[in-house]
Amino acid sequence: MVGLMQLHFHLIRLSMCLALGGCQSIHTTYAPAKPASFVHQVERDPLIIHSDFLLPSEHRLIEELISQRGVLSEKLKLTPTNEPIHVYLFSDDKAYHDYVNQRFPNFANRRAIFVETDISLSVYAHWGDHVAVDLRHEVSHGYLHSAIPNLPFWLDEGLAEYFEVARGQHGVNQPHLDYLAAKADLEGWKPDISRLEQLPAAETMTQEDYAEAWAWVHFLLESGDKAAILTDYLNDLRQGDDAGTLSTRISKRLAVPELALAEHLQSLR
Ligand SMILES: [Zn+2]
Repeated sequence: MVGLMQLHFHLIRLSMCLALGGCQSIHTTYAPAKPASFVHQVERDPLIIHSDFLLPSEHRLIEELISQRGVLSEKLKLTPTNEPIHVYLFSDDKAYHDYVNQRFPNFANRRAIFVETDISLSVYAHWGDHVAVDLRHEVSHGYLHSAIPNLPFWLDEGLAEYFEVARGQHGVNQPHLDYLAAKADLEGWKPDISRLEQLPAAETMTQEDYAEAWAWVHFLLESGDKAAILTDYLNDLRQGDDAGTLSTRISKRLAVPELALAEHLQSLR
């Protein structure tokens, strides 16, 4: 049994999905061992899917996750990598939560987790009503992390929230849109990208933060000709350049970015 003392939260990134699909990231050197009950394995480059139940290699969800690498790479103008992503699928939620409780007790309530070490990318999830959203989200983290070093955590989550949406919906994450609409109507919420960029750690991200992170990504990718602001920024990050902040680049293109985002969200309602 692996104890909490073996966790070193500084080299591995761990992402956990919240009920609404939001995630939280921490860093640790700890990589959990493969669950003993996982006797089944499907290899579909770059995914290696381990499970405690028989999963057909041609399952529709696997096909979707494989093709998502191309979708994400094309949308973000990234060169796909072949770095393997291990996906550990539990047949039921109890087995999954028992496993996560034991190894990551601080994140026992998460529906799925993404773990990054210096040498591996792994996703843990269970087969249930939300498995498609969860896997699209977490595997997107894997594709992003394999292509871009040092992706700002808030943007990492915003991108995953965009790519978790089923194909054909143009990245419209309806729960986030509804949340921000209600927040704007009831509390006068206004976007503030600088606030996101100044968040101290992924663990501090709230539902509002995830929703706004998604909103900025959707705004850049799905409204007019702004996508290059984001894709150029990601390309600079990929090359290890000092990319600065995304808000600085947006401000060079738009006089009042927050107002433009608010109008974009209004147009989606
Ligand atoms: Zn996430």
